[in-house]
Amino acid sequence: MNYQNTLDFALQLDEQDPLKDYRSKFLIPQHNGYDAIYLCGNSLGLQPASANQYLSVQLTAWQQHGVEGWFDADEPWIDYHTRLTGTLAGIVGAKKEEVTVMNSLTVNLHLLMVSFYKPNGNKYKILMEAGAFPSDQYAIESQVKFHGYDPKDAIIEVAPRDGEELLRTEDILNAIADNASELALVLFSGINYYTGQFFNIEAITKAAHEAGAMAGFDLAHAAGNVPLKLHDWNADFACWCSYKYMNSGPGGISGIFVNEKHFADKALNRFAGWWGYRQDKRFLMAPGFDAAAGADGWQVSTPPIMLMALHKASLDIFEQAGGLAPLRAKSELMTGYFEYLIQEINIEAGRELFSIITPKNKDERGCQLSVICRHNAKQIFNYLTQNGVIGDWREPNVIRLSPVPLYNSFKDVFQAGRILVRWVGENAL
Ligand SMILES: *Cc1c(COP(=O)(O)O)cnc(C)c1O
Repeated sequence: MNYQNTLDFALQLDEQDPLKDYRSKFLIPQHNGYDAIYLCGNSLGLQPASANQYLSVQLTAWQQHGVEGWFDADEPWIDYHTRLTGTLAGIVGAKKEEVTVMNSLTVNLHLLMVSFYKPNGNKYKILMEAGAFPSDQYAIESQVKFHGYDPKDAIIEVAPRDGEELLRTEDILNAIADNASELALVLFSGINYYTGQFFNIEAITKAAHEAGAMAGFDLAHAAGNVPLKLHDWNADFACWCSYKYMNSGPGGISGIFVNEKHFADKALNRFAGWWGYRQDKRFLMAPGFDAAAGADGWQVSTPPIMLMALHKASLDIFEQAGGLAPLRAKSELMTGYFEYLIQEINIEAGRELFSIITPKNKDERGCQLSVICRHNAKQIFNYLTQNGVIGDWREPNVIRLSPVPLYNSFKDVFQAGRILVRWVGENAL
């Protein structure tokens, strides 16, 4: 695509956008009476306009049925989650029975590590990316300690080379092979929250398995953002949140993937609860845990129906849009356009005011661009905010901006670029 740095061109891309009508299915925050330029779907996706209705249906079911809503509501709560897992399985590339929704993300990371971090003899170490999301770092450290190891010894972090921001796949794979004799688990994010780098999940999984280790992934920034094939890639487990690219509300319900090859393994540890018990016998309240088939067997507690209703409001939009493929096509074009506009500012200024640390290769990134501001970073971020551009700030000088194909327009991206240009002009950089 030969991009052009004009409003007309942006409007033309919007006109040709097969997903252009989807923006109206979301509620766009307002700034001085206009739609804000919301580029923060990496942190909290926007509210579907239908969310209120989906929630209201469940409130009414509760009002009308009380406890009998579990079986007698139009959409009985007892297996309400199965109305979500088909779409979710498509989004993460899994079989329906490999996916369930439950709890929130960090909790699920813990529960899955209970099952899949199985230190044994010399093989007790976990290999992860340096600079992982803090919650994941804390979860992993505490799991390692729980098993009686010292995190400094038992956690191996793979870092970018000196002077580089991104991890090279070869370095990840070599680190796995080099530590094979001691590795129990390789645990990576799908997309790093800070740099926006999309890791090669298939290659990492293969290397982990060759090293005799499990491979698990935190897909918080990947699910609903980039196409995934967890089953075909043979990942052992994964989890994600629903409130970033899946627009299901702050603190929304999380999802998990467990590869079907583990379903029959009775030796896996689980922190069990009654909701993971096989559904047909759950209410016999018998002693002795008998897990439900599939990923459902990892559920613990009574599911939060209201959160699932909000999740369904958004997943139904993914379904209507035709799944990830059309979203990804627009996303590549739109993030590519944003990258082009930022580079134009640098070219105009004759030096690199803004350095994009996210990979240039579209196969190694999703929606997000992480932009280092070489000068006055915090002032630039504040200027964006004052002018209605909502992104997010990461110390010391990174602004993360994520055009999301369901609700952002090419005009949004163009205008965000204009505001940066204006700042540069006003500050005589
Ligand atoms: C957003 C995010 C989290 C947040 O976890 P919660 O339990 O939902 O608070 C955890 N890990 C990663 C990688 C994230 O991007």
